[in-house]
Amino acid sequence: MPRPITAVIHHDALQHNLSIAREMAPDSQVFAVVKANAYGHGIERVYSSFKTADGFALLDIEEAKRIRALGWTGTILLLEGIFSAQDLFDCDQYNLSFTVHSQHQIDWIQQYAVIQNQQDQKIVQFDIFLKMNSGMNRLGFNPEHYQSAWHQLNSLNSIHSITHMMHFSDADGERFGRSGIEYQRQIFEEAIRDLPGKRSLSNSAATLRYSKQLHSDYVRSGIMLYGSSPDYPEHNIQDWKLEPTMSLRSEIIAIQNLEANETVGYGSRFIAKQTMKIGIVACGYADGYQRISTDAPVLVNSIRSQTIGRVSMDMLAVDLTHVENAEIGSEVVLWGKSSSGAVLPIDEVAISSGTVGYELMCGVTNRVNFVNEH
Ligand SMILES: *Cc1c(COP(=O)(O)O)cnc(C)c1O
Repeated sequence: MPRPITAVIHHDALQHNLSIAREMAPDSQVFAVVKANAYGHGIERVYSSFKTADGFALLDIEEAKRIRALGWTGTILLLEGIFSAQDLFDCDQYNLSFTVHSQHQIDWIQQYAVIQNQQDQKIVQFDIFLKMNSGMNRLGFNPEHYQSAWHQLNSLNSIHSITHMMHFSDADGERFGRSGIEYQRQIFEEAIRDLPGKRSLSNSAATLRYSKQLHSDYVRSGIMLYGSSPDYPEHNIQDWKLEPTMSLRSEIIAIQNLEANETVGYGSRFIAKQTMKIGIVACGYADGYQRISTDAPVLVNSIRSQTIGRVSMDMLAVDLTHVENAEIGSEVVLWGKSSSGAVLPIDEVAISSGTVGYELMCGVTNRVNFVNEH
């Protein structure tokens, strides 16, 4: 028998969450963001559920090639653009759209056109997403340089289309006393004024919270497709009608009956107040469960309980006080859905280690067995 820990991928939930993105942004094309191996779910695994999307967005050319290998002929957008002039050969060969966020990338595109000219090759026509730094200060042209970047690119034969792109830092809540999109949106609108072209603004948080106020020809939906709420705890997945797409499940492999004052695990971090029953679960930080978490919620036989003591590499302990039917082999859900349908949102687990659902789902390690549920 393999160790009982598994990550179950729920295909009906992936499809359902994509339909919510469509519902929230009815006038937009929906790009499924599948970076980081589809937020830890596996590109090959999610592909069949996401192939009704209007495009895929990711970072690594190797991941883009994997999507082409699955038969996808539509748009693939590289969200960080090219990392070298060489990458343009792949963009050409695999028909990849890409973000342009800095002058050095424009220089590479110009050099590439010169090489093609010299070799008398047909000039390729790239569809690019010109990124503006509207205030987040990671990637993009500053508003005052944006128009000149646009004109440089627009004058090149090798550019087929230019989409205006930006990314929100605060779409999940209020900042500076107003909605978190407002200050960036104004900067963006001002800077693209009078330029033709489509626009791509919204991530999941903006799609869910502001789609009525924002016009985004292409929305870039990531976390919402994977059943995590981008603005938890203000809204949970039920509020947004999203469903968990990944369930990390394991089993109880040992039971301990404690006397008062006995301790559990490394560092004796948990001390029993009275006699109690605890379960030892085959899940630890080497599976991707956060060591730093304390009192994290779990489901044991679909009944809510919590972890106790320190998470170790291969195991953690759970309180069985209120789970009378718990025994060796009982199902323990670390996040997601139990096999009888009880839900433990990943966001609730994430918050108990001070992180977000994104990090947990991306962090499941490859010793965990993944299984598909259709
Ligand atoms: C990751 C990413 C997204 C998706 O963000 P979510 O919060 O997961 O929806 C959108 N746009 C860009 C540029 C990204 O890097």
